[in-house]
Amino acid sequence: MRNIVIIGSGPAGLTAAIYSARANLAPLLIEGWQSGGQLTTTTEVENYPGFAKGIMGPELMKDMRAQAERFGTEFLTGDVSAVTFTQRPFSITIDGEQTVQAKTVIIATGASAIQIGLPNEKRLTGHGVSTCATCDGFFFKGKELIVVGGGDSAMEEANFLTKFATKVSIVHRRDKLRASKIMQDRSMKNEKISFVWNSAVEDILGEEVVTGVRLKNLVTGKTVVLPCAGVFVAIGHMPNTALFAGQLGMDAKGYLITKNGTATSVPGIFAAGDVQDSTYRQAITAAGSGCMAAIDAERFLESREG
Ligand code: NAP
Repeated sequence: MRNIVIIGSGPAGLTAAIYSARANLAPLLIEGWQSGGQLTTTTEVENYPGFAKGIMGPELMKDMRAQAERFGTEFLTGDVSAVTFTQRPFSITIDGEQTVQAKTVIIATGASAIQIGLPNEKRLTGHGVSTCATCDGFFFKGKELIVVGGGDSAMEEANFLTKFATKVSIVHRRDKLRASKIMQDRSMKNEKISFVWNSAVEDILGEEVVTGVRLKNLVTGKTVVLPCAGVFVAIGHMPNTALFAGQLGMDAKGYLITKNGTATSVPGIFAAGDVQDSTYRQAITAAGSGCMAAIDAERFLESREG
């Protein structure tokens, strides 16, 4: 029987582990077969406070993991395949084989950026393909970029990128944006932004780094090559919550609903990081909420045992 089981090994999960380990709660962290979360797929992280010269994403996650281990976090490598949160103690099954029981659970399974699904998109991720302008925009000073998508995220990313890029083309599959009026207006007024309507990215070009995209006009069927140094894909995110369907309160998009800090709809189950945050989605905000979840879980245990 565990005091705390943490599911997820991004900044939220590892920060929750550091705090709960230092509170002598001997947490077990289930880290998944791909440990480290979204930051392991980026290159340099320049906006995580405390690293004046920046740090590579995978290195930051390795150090966070080592910090959690140093205080006694136990790690279990595997993917959670089932959970039962309807009765206590809670139970969590890993890879369909092993089941652990817990008094409290912190869910930090994160979210995944939706991808277009092109082989070269995957290959060039971190080499010109990105899903985070806040993280990677700075690397494209003086370059031409494209942003894919027609929602608020695409508008926000495009506007942000004009701080660095000389030109940003928003490629959208229709001739009408999904984004809110205010975000549309802001993009339309920005002289560095232009729109490529009714178009899909058919391929991303480049050997070592991105050099352009091949676009297909979905009305005429014509293809064109648009040179660019970076492709920012902003077609939405999906929280990793399929496992918890029917057991925890979620919003219409599947994000876990938290209140009073990090409490979910089931007392004793807490959620931190991108799995419950569709707004900020930064490593530092995820880490902050991981800390909150550890403190919330600790107080929950104290109130039960006291
Ligand atoms: P979204 O609103 O779901 O928009 C996704 C966009 O990507 C849509 O324009 C969609 O096209 C396009 N798209 C989806 N799949 C695609 C594919 N496979 N290929 C090409 N295009 C594809 O997602 P979001 O922009 O990330 O926003 C998510 C939520 O966060 C929204 O509620 C939004 O309002 C909110 N948000 C708000 C702000 C803000 O207010 N500052 C900033 C960011 C996000 P279609 O239009 O044709 O479906």
